[in-house]
Amino acid sequence: MIVVFTDLDGTLLDHDSYSFEAARPALALLKARDIPLVLASSKTEAEMRPLSMALGIDYPLIVENGAGIANWRNTERGGDDSPSLYQRIRLFLAALPQELRGCFTGFGDWSVEEVALATGLSLEAAALAKQRNFSEPGHFTGSDVQRRAFSALLEAAGFQAMQGGRFFTVMPRTSKAVRMAELVAYYRRQSGEAVVSVALGDAPNDLAMLEAADCGIIIANPSHTPLPVTERERQGLILRSEEPGPAGWNRMIHHLVATGLL
Ligand SMILES: [Mg+2]
Repeated sequence: MIVVFTDLDGTLLDHDSYSFEAARPALALLKARDIPLVLASSKTEAEMRPLSMALGIDYPLIVENGAGIANWRNTERGGDDSPSLYQRIRLFLAALPQELRGCFTGFGDWSVEEVALATGLSLEAAALAKQRNFSEPGHFTGSDVQRRAFSALLEAAGFQAMQGGRFFTVMPRTSKAVRMAELVAYYRRQSGEAVVSVALGDAPNDLAMLEAADCGIIIANPSHTPLPVTERERQGLILRSEEPGPAGWNRMIHHLVATGLL
């Protein structure tokens, strides 16, 4: 079977309008073929559920940049993947030496208004972004020495710090790519068939997922520098769209159908 994994902002959703309108024909193609479409984003479950409903799908959601998987009724799953993970991160922060704790403020410390200001989201959207289960984005204002000390304590506690474009995020040691692998294994067990994975993304935080997929698709995003050409792309296992966002997404899914992969 085939499973499609996709980033949202700048990939399935237009970078500016957040619309997926231009991808509708390709979405209908996937639905007609019963191909699961797994959304993989830095967004929270609270932000992604309404979108998943608008898309008319009901598949697992890779949320908070791979920190967790939501809407996944997998009874075999164990370990570190529960909403209480967020409480554990907040407890870890609270227990830090005061000097280091003072270097970091996160969404859990901020009001909805402050999250809106830091993210550029509307108040309504910021309230959904604050409903976190698996990771804590924020700002780190300390020195390099303090940052190293903070990261060392994080790692000792089984977490990691990810510096993104906008936020310094405390999260478990997972990623979109690791979560994709977990779901590929799940679909393989469930279906008893080999699973071909297709992944679409536009940014550096998607690159590991694109590299790990059987077929990776880079969606053009003129608002930042293009992703580097990797060995997998030279081998023809990663393709690039010409058009950005949902129009590129639509074209590339149609291309995979035309070439017989889907
Ligand atoms: Mg993106």
